[in-house]
Amino acid sequence: RLIAATPRSPQEEALERALRPKQLDEYVGQVKVREQLEIFVGAAKKRGEVLDHVLLFGPPGLGKTTLSHIIAHELGVRLHQTSGPVLEKPRDLAAILTSLERNDVLFIDEIHRLSPVVEEILYPALEDFQIDILIGEGPAARSIKLDLQPFTLVGATTRAGMLTNPLRDRFGITARLEFYSADELQRIVRRSAHLLGAPIDDEGALEIARRARGTPRIANRLLRRVRDWADVKADGRIHQAVAAAALSLLDVDQAGFDLMDRKLLEALIHRFDGGPVGLDNLAAAIGEASDTIEDVLEPYLIQQGYLHRTPRGRMATQQAYRHLGLAPPQREGELF
Ligand code: ADP
Repeated sequence: RLIAATPRSPQEEALERALRPKQLDEYVGQVKVREQLEIFVGAAKKRGEVLDHVLLFGPPGLGKTTLSHIIAHELGVRLHQTSGPVLEKPRDLAAILTSLERNDVLFIDEIHRLSPVVEEILYPALEDFQIDILIGEGPAARSIKLDLQPFTLVGATTRAGMLTNPLRDRFGITARLEFYSADELQRIVRRSAHLLGAPIDDEGALEIARRARGTPRIANRLLRRVRDWADVKADGRIHQAVAAAALSLLDVDQAGFDLMDRKLLEALIHRFDGGPVGLDNLAAAIGEASDTIEDVLEPYLIQQGYLHRTPRGRMATQQAYRHLGLAPPQREGELF
């Protein structure tokens, strides 16, 4: 997968860190979420209290990690970062929890992937800032309560529906991140280009923005590839024609879809007559995990009106047919 929405190499992670906005007012878009956080963070600071636990959800690359760093920065506290799959044993989480200082932020990415035994010790930690730990083994084992410093958990997940109810109930603040508009992504591209020292004009930035699947991570990634192209094939300056040529070389089409997006739409139309088809069948047909389809591929296709989720399965919309240069079928009682 060429333009996966998750970072892949250590170099890329380092670059992401460098491009990450540090303060709330540098964070582009997500206006509602930003306004809410400004108030909640401001109130917690003013009263000298710990901020409520925050749940961030939305597809990969929309800025959840970035926002957790910003929250810690705005609160003036330290951020501890970990993720659901990394915390294998209760003691992994206990070690982190006991190292937290007053009002620190603990960021747990992919929080829906916490194992049940680990999640279990998180409940009293979130509620009463206490954990129960087991000392010794066998019949001599006993459990003791440890007090923790008050802290804020920022949890991130691609799908809020995958959280257990008891965990979801413990978040006081829930924010859903939306795909970014081309306008917002254009601002992000211009800012990143500036930080990278890459000369770019407004039309060049817009061309990249329009094709970035509504996702800042992808916009930044496309920018770097376009910049490489501009350095090798042109004079290094990024304008519209340069961006368009570089992006078509990367197989990113006019709608911003990459090979995987098109493969999904093609399978849906050619192999399943446009649907409805169940997620697992679709996943098998394109050789992707159904999680990847649900988390990474389809949210944008749905948001853009190319794919429809019905109780009987996924369906291609007329727009999807047209995108692939096909005549849409006339369906009885067509919804779209
Ligand atoms: P997530 O945690 O949701 O997968 P990240 O927070 O890691 O996404 O963001 C991916 C990249 O996109 C980061 O390098 C960051 O610089 C950039 N980014 C995300 N959101 C914004 C934003 N609102 N403004 C500017 N850049 C952003």
